[in-house]
Amino acid sequence: MKLPATIVFATNNSHKLQEVRDIVGNNCEVKSLAEIGCHDDIPETAETLEGNALIKARWVKERYGYDCFADDTGLEVKVLGGAPGVKSARYAAEEGVSSDHDSLANMEVLLRNMEGKTDRSACFRTAIALIAGGEEHCFEGRVDGCIIESPRGSAGFGYDPVFVPAGYDKTFAEMSEHQKNSLSHRRRALDRLMEFFDK
Ligand code: IMP
Repeated sequence: MKLPATIVFATNNSHKLQEVRDIVGNNCEVKSLAEIGCHDDIPETAETLEGNALIKARWVKERYGYDCFADDTGLEVKVLGGAPGVKSARYAAEEGVSSDHDSLANMEVLLRNMEGKTDRSACFRTAIALIAGGEEHCFEGRVDGCIIESPRGSAGFGYDPVFVPAGYDKTFAEMSEHQKNSLSHRRRALDRLMEFFDK
């Protein structure tokens, strides 16, 4: 599919927007939700990352009329049966420990639930849903790695201080933004999206 002249990325996260704009360059104008006047609290009620990404992309297409893509990310820990997964942003909140998006509390709950576990393998997975030219498509990016026993580093966000990608000895939070963004789950999903537009 040909890269559209304008597309909405269903986010107001300035880091994500900058990452996407850097990849897309001058070939396409990427608008945020705020830039199309969307200030809705879009519900993320699906059981899967793909489902939530689709809800967001359809919301924008149906209510605002724009071709759009949306992402959803989760940390999946093998020994926890894939948790926190789709609940990554609200892991501690679901246990009644804090409010949504409390990264410190989320990491504390994760480390507590993994106490004594020897299998520390995990992956970050990003799903991107695209609605363009009357078609819907999903793309995935993942990074395998492991969860360490106590947080290290101060860069990044979310679970970055406890995740070491396979083949590295630094956590995502000990890497520069450039290094993390060059190998991240989100970057890999965005690369799949851009490959699709190249075809
Ligand atoms: P979102 O779908 O990108 O909003 O991500 C949902 C949740 O997953 C966030 O609130 C974070 O807790 C976690 N998360 C997503 N991406 C990353 C990342 O790159 N590093 C660490 N945690 C992340």
